[in-house]
This record gives sequence, structure tokens and C-alpha cells, in this order.
Amino acid sequence: MIKLIIILSFIRHSALKKEAREKKYKRSRQREKILDILHTSSIHPTAAWIYERLKEEIPDLSMGTIYRNLNILIEQRLVRKIDFGSTFDRFDANVDPHYHFICEKCGAIIDLDLPIDASLNEMVNKKTQFRAKRHRIEFYGLCNKCAQKQYEGK
Ligand SMILES: [Zn+2]
Ligand SMILES: [Zn+2]
Repeated sequence: MIKLIIILSFIRHSALKKEAREKKYKRSRQREKILDILHTSSIHPTAAWIYERLKEEIPDLSMGTIYRNLNILIEQRLVRKIDFGSTFDRFDANVDPHYHFICEKCGAIIDLDLPIDASLNEMVNKKTQFRAKRHRIEFYGLCNKCAQKQYEGK
């Protein structure tokens, strides 16, 4: 009997926690739209690009709303921000670790279907006093379209 009560209170506790989490992030149509757009585009868009795509559909949308919702999605671990130093942030709905290819001509950022090389972390750990937990790799060059254009001399 005691065991049952413990189990029941555990279930109740986790249900309450879930409710609290959902309340914190009241479901928002705007946020769902932003996530949709990130899932359906593979270009790792900027916040401004998302705004351009949604502003007609959602007339009261502002850049502030876009940033606020993107930050919530990041906190919920549904979206990842890719920070490229001086240029503006790009957003990625693919939150699994993956490498990127960046076109130096048109700026496209493309997901690469390559295995993550954990031995790189080990190499850092072996050769230094640091403890590497993860790493990020970007390959730079020309995307298909830009390579084709260069080949055709355009
Ligand atoms: Zn390109
Ligand atoms: Zn990506």
C-alpha cells in the first residue's frame, strides 16, 4: 500500500512538473510557425529571413517576437543557434550533432551527413590538459550551384 502511494505521488509530481513546464511556455501559434519554417527549410536561416517569410501571415509580428520565440525554442532544446562570430546568427532545427558545409560564394549553410569524429575530442584530451566535450567543424568551399556556375564561367 505504501509503495502504491509513493508511486502515485511520483506520477502526480511528474504530471505537475510537466504542467508547470507547459505553462511556462504557453503554446504559441507564432512559435509553432517559426519552428515549422526552421524544420522545412534546410538553409539555416537568420532571424530576419524568418521574419520576411512570416510577416504577411502574422501581421502583428515583429523582430522582437521572432527573437523572443527563438530564444524560448533554444531553451526548450528544439532549435540551435549557430554563431559565426562577426556575421549574424543562423538558426538550426536539427539539434543532433552534425557538421556544416558553408559556401563561400553564396553563404549557404548545408548539413553534412558525416559521422561525428569523437577521436578528435580524445586527441585534444591526450595532448593537452583540457577536457574537450564536443567540437564543431565547418567545411568551406563552393556549393553545387556555385560550383556549376563557376564551371560554366558565369
Ligand atoms: Zn553557393
Ligand atoms: Zn545544421
